[in-house]
Amino acid sequence: MKKLVILGATGSIGTNTLAIVREHPDEFCVSALAVLNSADRCAALAREFGARAYSGPDAAVRAVEENDADICVVATVGMSGILPVWTAIEKGMDVALATKEALVMAGECITAAAKKKGVRLIPVDSEHSAVFQCLQGCADMGEVERLVLTASGGPFLDAPADLSGVTLEQALDHPRWKMGRKVTIDSSTMMNKGFEIIEARWLFDVPVSRIDAVVHPESIVHSLVEFTDGATLAQLSVPDMRVAIQYALSWPRRFASERRKLDLASLGSLTFRRPDEKRFPALALAKRAVEEGGAQCAVLAAADEWAVGAFERGEIPYTGIAAAVEKCLDAAPRIGAETIDAVMEANSWTWKFLSR
Ligand code: MG
Repeated sequence: MKKLVILGATGSIGTNTLAIVREHPDEFCVSALAVLNSADRCAALAREFGARAYSGPDAAVRAVEENDADICVVATVGMSGILPVWTAIEKGMDVALATKEALVMAGECITAAAKKKGVRLIPVDSEHSAVFQCLQGCADMGEVERLVLTASGGPFLDAPADLSGVTLEQALDHPRWKMGRKVTIDSSTMMNKGFEIIEARWLFDVPVSRIDAVVHPESIVHSLVEFTDGATLAQLSVPDMRVAIQYALSWPRRFASERRKLDLASLGSLTFRRPDEKRFPALALAKRAVEEGGAQCAVLAAADEWAVGAFERGEIPYTGIAAAVEKCLDAAPRIGAETIDAVMEANSWTWKFLSR
């Protein structure tokens, strides 16, 4: 039986993780749950699962420090996931990673620490889970030619080219996935895909020049791996995040589930197209940040977090999100990102710069 600590227990990933634990009571148990707010709901869940409940700003780190687990599921919002991931690695817990910011902002030091401690970082996000699944049985990463991450394209795939008048309500209306607000807005700008390219670079140690994105509106193919012999493997399923979450927990095994199975004949066709980098400048900005290296990816993510918040409050237009990110990448002092402190420094520089 695998013991879990779940950080961000009442969010969409946390809720789905607990649904999987309910379905497989002989395989998983929960030692602790942590939330930022919603303390009452967390306490009720803790009673149901016989776990300890933590709430508040330092809840995630304390839950990791004070409990034992085989896997720490990190599904907190924003950069608050970085310290708990770090703490879990230090404790030698495997990490099922849903929070993007940890690898986007601190990928260099987190992957180095995980390697040193012999800790596994298991992806929960559908795209990285797909790549991870396609790589099972691949003993030599030198045999991988290219990773191809699929993107649904979000709600503005076929919208008129000028997106400056997009409202919050339109940005939150994702056609395929029900997710938290920040990631839904990031999906609409395609910054989410930019983040995922950065995460893939660190998770699979493949240079970003060999990671591509392809738009696939049906969200059935969750990503692909092209090998040097010309074979390409893909992972497909109905768009249900529980498939990827469950695999992160069951790996290297697979557990039976009642989830809807894929029916290709009734789908009829699957379509693919190249992403429009003019309409979605976030994608190019993310690639630029990785290529510039150092703390530029931390600046990218911090600027995006600030800008999405400002857009939600109606302070900047939709197209102002990418503009704010670009302004920060241009102006940021070039520092390395070998330590969490350096990442935090880049983060606070960005917030100060944008709040002037
Ligand atoms: Mg994703």
